[in-house]
Amino acid sequence: MQKLSYYLCAIIAVSFAISCTPSKQAEISERPKIVATTGMVADAIENLLGDQVELKTLMGPGVDPHLYKASQGDMNLLANADIIVYSGHHLEGKMIEVLHKIGKTKPVIPLAEYIWENRLQRSDDGKGAIDPHLWMDIESWKLGVNGLSDTLQKLLPNKAAFIAGNFKTYKDTLEKVSFEIELAIGSIPKSQRVLITSHDAFRYYGLAYGIEVKGLQGISTVSEYGLQDVSNMVNFIISRKIKSVFIESSISSKSLQAVIEGCKSKGYNINIGGSLYSDAMGPKSSPVGTYKGMLRHNTQTIVNALK
Ligand SMILES: [Zn+2]
Repeated sequence: MQKLSYYLCAIIAVSFAISCTPSKQAEISERPKIVATTGMVADAIENLLGDQVELKTLMGPGVDPHLYKASQGDMNLLANADIIVYSGHHLEGKMIEVLHKIGKTKPVIPLAEYIWENRLQRSDDGKGAIDPHLWMDIESWKLGVNGLSDTLQKLLPNKAAFIAGNFKTYKDTLEKVSFEIELAIGSIPKSQRVLITSHDAFRYYGLAYGIEVKGLQGISTVSEYGLQDVSNMVNFIISRKIKSVFIESSISSKSLQAVIEGCKSKGYNINIGGSLYSDAMGPKSSPVGTYKGMLRHNTQTIVNALK
């Protein structure tokens, strides 16, 4: 039964995503123009298609996708693209209308929406929104990339074998990285396996790799945090004797500074364990400029600070 529901979820997820991707392959050129929203999505396309496509990424290092609005330059890129790939599940909350509108005229593919329903987490603020940070669990993200690979093979049939082969290589690499992360997190003493960040971007990471996760803001940076949230976090840190909190490259550290000050006022010193890449990757030419590099950096930073 479990297995059947897996398949059903997969079929529903895939048919949903395909319905957003009207076939326009006759009009797609030999070296298609693809636009990706986030770096993590672009990394998947780059690994599947290499230089067979002209790839542009809208959101660079340090950009918060929850708040990002398409500029006029972005609108031109989207209008000229053959295919657009975004993360989905409302990560690009301020771009969703534009993406849906363009989706009526060309393939617009939400990578994370290929991921099976039973792997999705929802916000616990009573609104039940799907947590969009699915790239944090490699096993889930891999399912999304698999769906993307299948759709790209249909849209670009003369590159299908190339894409299929590249997917296998990418998948093998990601599985290796996932295993490395599991081992590394497992090396932190159990009582110290708590990851505190500004916003709730690491829930899937926590579930996949066995670390308790707490964020001051909700799953979107659009939501505000209050004094009560800071005070609850301070009490939690002191009661659990937690050594470090982590800032995020795409989010202001102001909220966590309030927590650090709050701890200090109660005579408890907590340090910043480092900067994590949550919703955006690092500079292109650096080790954190790839999806696997970003996850490796995050893991190493967490382990170094908490071990
Ligand atoms: Zn986020």
